[in-house]
Amino acid sequence: MRHIVIAAGLIASLGLPAAAQSRKDLSLDVRQYITVDAPVVALTHVRVMDGTGAAPVDDQTIVIEGNLITSVGPAGSAKVPAGAKVIDLTGHTVIPGLVGMHDHIHYSAAGWRNINLSYSSPRLYLASGVTTIRTAGSLVPYEDMNVKHSIDRGESPGPRMHLSGPYISGPHSPLPVMAELDSPEEARRVVRYWAEEGATWFKAYTTIRRAEMKAAIDEAHRLGLKVTGHLCSIGYREAVELGFDNLEHGLFVNTEYDPDKKPDLCPTGSVPKLIDLDLNSAPVKATFQALIEHHIAMTSTLPVLEALVPNRPPELDPRMLEAMYPAVKEGYLKARDLMAKNPNAGLSEGLLKKAMAYEFAFYKAGGMLAAGVDNTGNGGALAGLGDQRNFELFIEMGLTPVQALQVMSANGAKVLGVYDKLGSVTSGKLADLVVIKGNPAVTPRDIRNVTLVFKDGLGYDSAKLLASVKGIVGLR
Ligand SMILES: [Zn+2]
Repeated sequence: MRHIVIAAGLIASLGLPAAAQSRKDLSLDVRQYITVDAPVVALTHVRVMDGTGAAPVDDQTIVIEGNLITSVGPAGSAKVPAGAKVIDLTGHTVIPGLVGMHDHIHYSAAGWRNINLSYSSPRLYLASGVTTIRTAGSLVPYEDMNVKHSIDRGESPGPRMHLSGPYISGPHSPLPVMAELDSPEEARRVVRYWAEEGATWFKAYTTIRRAEMKAAIDEAHRLGLKVTGHLCSIGYREAVELGFDNLEHGLFVNTEYDPDKKPDLCPTGSVPKLIDLDLNSAPVKATFQALIEHHIAMTSTLPVLEALVPNRPPELDPRMLEAMYPAVKEGYLKARDLMAKNPNAGLSEGLLKKAMAYEFAFYKAGGMLAAGVDNTGNGGALAGLGDQRNFELFIEMGLTPVQALQVMSANGAKVLGVYDKLGSVTSGKLADLVVIKGNPAVTPRDIRNVTLVFKDGLGYDSAKLLASVKGIVGLR
């Protein structure tokens, strides 16, 4: 029995359907968004930012055959197969499909709304160029699983999904939907159950204790699954010793710099003290060294943090306001207004900058940084649109556009273990590509100008997908 479970887990962990999706099986609901569907497609005269960290190259031709990229090279000498559908992309840039590592189907918004957006989230991700997501914790795991199956069967549009089980927490978890693990036995049982159901990741949450955490990680690893966490009761260096594969959110959830931290307990009021943390100090260097030595990635989720800072983002994305359900929009704008009027509300700009500097220092030290939106908090970071905002925030942080893109594509694919299949614009990889009008290597904001998103070689109309979620984000 066990080997069957492991085999199923391996297939699921690639984020690929067990059998290749036949194009003729696509539902009408999916078809209505597809504007490019041809056996061979050539994207000509386009700038390529390939996601590997290489400099952008102008005037390239990308050939797609079936669901694969079969060549990338100078337009002048490229061999375009006879009968190919040729799309002249002069003035455009192609990047790899983004890999969102903290990309929930659920959404939290002002007024304590928590809702699983199984209709709008997948569409927002795909429309924004996010072709692969890891859910990083689920409020309603069976609903997320059914969404994934529906996408894989070609019944509804959306990204490739890597599923996590329910959040695993300790007693007194902050949300009543989490598994509140109270013994190592229970930890192993919960992991085994959800592994059989199809989860390939687990996300630990704030109050979990070391004994349960260790049991959960060991059981997950025995079954070939991985574990990440939004920590509090466990510090990063303890997490390294416990065997975590990935850690979410960076500085604010790493409580190990708080002198009042007690084992297995969440200290209170750690975050404001971080403003004085010396990023060149021995404890910070020790954290980075431990993560790097054990190949543990840090997932940056700046858009959700930024939304908690007064008057940030400086300009509201009109696409976000259009997508929001009216009551959700009203709640968010009210919360934003209150923060702007009360200088002590929310998170200070200085703390946001500190969190950025911490992640930048980790990156500079050679750490593996990945990225996700985390569409929770006060509702100001939406699926997909928030992933695009990541690109701009990384550049504000100090990364070059090429580095930011690498973090958001190749690095995510590496952490998921699928970099041999996707995560860069490379011949032989899956044709998951994003077409952008303009040049995000020079004008970061151009990342928002997505026109076409290829997933498995099929080109989806970004504007049409966005239009399909107008006024419903926060509702369904
Ligand atoms: Zn989250």
